[in-house]
Amino acid sequence: MHDMEMKYIKEAFDTNWVAPLGANVDGFEKDMEEYLGHGMHATALSAGTAAIHLAFRIIGIKPGDLVFSSDLTFAATVNPVTYEGGVPVFIDSERESWNMDPEALKIAFEKYPDAKAVIAANLYGTPAKLKEIEEICDHYNVPFIEDAAESLGATYDGIPTGTFGKAGILSFNGNKIITTSGGGMLVSHDEELVKKARFLATQAREPERYYQHKEIGFNYRMSNIVAGIGRGQMVYLDSHVEAKKMIRKKYEEAFKDIPEISLNPYLKESDPNCWLTCMLLSEDSKVGPYDIMDALDAENIETRPIWKPMHLQPVFKGNGFVQKEEGMSVGEDIFNRGLCLPSDIKNTEEDMQKITGIIRGLFGK
Ligand SMILES: *Cc1c(COP(=O)(O)O)cnc(C)c1O
Repeated sequence: MHDMEMKYIKEAFDTNWVAPLGANVDGFEKDMEEYLGHGMHATALSAGTAAIHLAFRIIGIKPGDLVFSSDLTFAATVNPVTYEGGVPVFIDSERESWNMDPEALKIAFEKYPDAKAVIAANLYGTPAKLKEIEEICDHYNVPFIEDAAESLGATYDGIPTGTFGKAGILSFNGNKIITTSGGGMLVSHDEELVKKARFLATQAREPERYYQHKEIGFNYRMSNIVAGIGRGQMVYLDSHVEAKKMIRKKYEEAFKDIPEISLNPYLKESDPNCWLTCMLLSEDSKVGPYDIMDALDAENIETRPIWKPMHLQPVFKGNGFVQKEEGMSVGEDIFNRGLCLPSDIKNTEEDMQKITGIIRGLFGK
């Protein structure tokens, strides 16, 4: 938190707008529309997960419909598919950005030509092969939902993530690049789609003088207090991205003489927000991810494992999984050999030296 957040929260209190609507909600949406540009429209919601749910509801996912999803991602990407009775089919990652492999996606469309939608995440703030994924979806005339929950501030071909496909999803959960404590947005070029999302998020209340409902709605709107935090955080978004990039740069410097360590890769045409810096250990590394996790944990420094691929989750046992080649999936390989490094923008130079010193020590440096 900085200074501006409290200013907007105070405004909400002073005007007594403590409700799921008000000047901060409108202002936060407008700020995001301006930040993303490209004719985007935005609606602020209670969570990124709620935004994903509304996207699938509006697309019209019905019980039994197949939806292609990133495999290596957080469960929130895919859980909402099932809220509508949809059935996720997971698509393996490629090695260049760790995101959905367009080649595997093509194979999936050949195998399941009836699939109704695609959702792909930009993992750890690194843009996926968004143009290719979008082109494939256009070719099959299937809507593409871009899960940009982790990648606000990142660009692909100079275009902000969140603006690709039929709708984009943002999250302001406590750990994201900007936070409102909890919250999300649904963004789209399609103004009608965004209006529909806002309507469904407000219990689908019809614009009548009395309470009239023709369809089932949800209580998914963002509160005016929470939106005040968001407005204040927007001011600092770019500086957060710069700070995250500095963290990554420090890891790059610290590990450049250790051939066993590489960092999470990104595409040349993309500019990641470096939300989390992750490492991948070479196959012949004597040091494993859990050795590093334990060594840092002994100094009270937290690391996180890579997301466990969805096709390996007990809850999705029996769901389809498509990869480019037989053998161990790319996602599982990254899960086995990878680790998320401490990437908080409050990490001091001293913190970073301590972290990198402990890791270097494990490699005898
Ligand atoms: C955080 C996250 C979400 C969900 O956002 P919430 O605001 O926490 O509901 C969705 N997808 C990914 C990839 C995320 O990291």
